[in-house]
Amino acid sequence: MPDKTYLDWPFFAPHHAALEAALDAWSQQHLAHATHDRASVDHACRQLVRQLGEGGWLRHAVAGVAHGGHADAIDTRAICLIRETLARHDGLADFAFAMQGLGAGAISLHGTDDQRSRYLPRVASGEAIAAFALSEPQAGSDVAAMQCAATPDGEHYVLDGEKTWISNGGIADFYVVFARTGEQPGARGISALIVDADTPGFEIAERIDVIAPHPLARLRFNRCRIPAAQRIGAAGQGFKVAMSTLDVFRTSVAAAALGFARRALDEALAHTTQRSMFGQMLSDFQLTQAKLADMATGIDAAALLTYRAAWQRDCGRKVTREAAMAKLTATETAQQVIDAALQMFGGLGVVSEQPVERLYREIRALRIYEGATEVQQLIIARELLRDAASAKGEA
Ligand SMILES: Cc1cc2nc3c(=O)[nH]c(=O)nc-3n(C[C@H](O)[C@H](O)[C@H](O)COP(=O)(O)OP(=O)(O)OC[C@H]3O[C@@H](n4cnc5c(N)ncnc54)[C@H](O)[C@@H]3O)c2cc1C
Repeated sequence: MPDKTYLDWPFFAPHHAALEAALDAWSQQHLAHATHDRASVDHACRQLVRQLGEGGWLRHAVAGVAHGGHADAIDTRAICLIRETLARHDGLADFAFAMQGLGAGAISLHGTDDQRSRYLPRVASGEAIAAFALSEPQAGSDVAAMQCAATPDGEHYVLDGEKTWISNGGIADFYVVFARTGEQPGARGISALIVDADTPGFEIAERIDVIAPHPLARLRFNRCRIPAAQRIGAAGQGFKVAMSTLDVFRTSVAAAALGFARRALDEALAHTTQRSMFGQMLSDFQLTQAKLADMATGIDAAALLTYRAAWQRDCGRKVTREAAMAKLTATETAQQVIDAALQMFGGLGVVSEQPVERLYREIRALRIYEGATEVQQLIIARELLRDAASAKGEA
């Protein structure tokens, strides 16, 4: 039985523990035997989105009761608990939930009433699949180097360029695309546009196969005419729209990493207490116990940072530094925990589709996307130095 005592931490309200228990029971029923091969990943993902919609879980991925959401404001702690729980059961289910939230996040946070009513109910029910398109071949960590351009033309924008590494690319019904609209140089000249997948001139340039299969693609926009009414937020404010969306979902990446790490620890405990060698169980060796202790301690430290960030955002406070600390610590810790668990399984650990083997592949990309570890370090340092400089100025 996994340890759930963290749900008593003061970061949570009573409804959070109930949510986790209900989703855990649902996951045991619906995701218990999930395995996903590369050939059928699109189908599996569509099916998971539908199932998560029918189960009512996607209502937590969008804001606004009137638009199908569970509540009027985004409940970051609920999103994190859902991602953690799904990740513990099935990485692709976590991915399906996360992308509905990330893809629709900018609309939830900054959309007009019309945009919210046209997109959010379908995202919440699982009828429409969402995607978030920020990265480009020459603009990954360096987002402001983006080249994709949306040129104003009357009541439209003409969108030209490419996006890459786009999750749900190829199966999404709409993409929130960030493009240069030129109001000012650099990050102040970017806007966010909702692009429907059937827009003339839009195409999937390439499907990308990664170590833990999920739908991923490079997108191409050839003179796509996008109505100005599809712009989210003010012209030139797209970078802020992207960053405020990432402030929610970056913390939830930490939660997903936590789910993978907890699953790895559960698998390690189950295995080491029944694997006998040299006349005793693997768990009887102090070398094993030291590893288990490090794994559990790392998980708690990551969980504290993750739910501190989620709670702080739900309190309406700035969370840039805290979200970065959570993502950095949880993803790096999960990688170490999973590697240690795999080692305890010996040869079995590297057998395809064994839980620890799957976790080993699933965790890797989390240290790269939504800001690589090094980018999180820079964010934390920038915030620290800014605070230090302003404290000096006040003195
Ligand atoms: C599986 C997967 C799913 C993704 N899904 C999406 C999506 O849905 N939407 C989207 O827009 N993007 C998505 N991405 C893109 C992701 O956000 C980028 O891959 C990420 O931002 C890194 O950009 P890059 O790949 O261009 O690497 P680069 O920017 O080239 O960075 C390479 C490496 O350099 C290091 N680095 C970066 N900055 C510094 C620095 N200042 N100092 C020292 N080292 C540094 C880091 O280790 C980094 O991994 C996804 C990526 C993956 C792998």
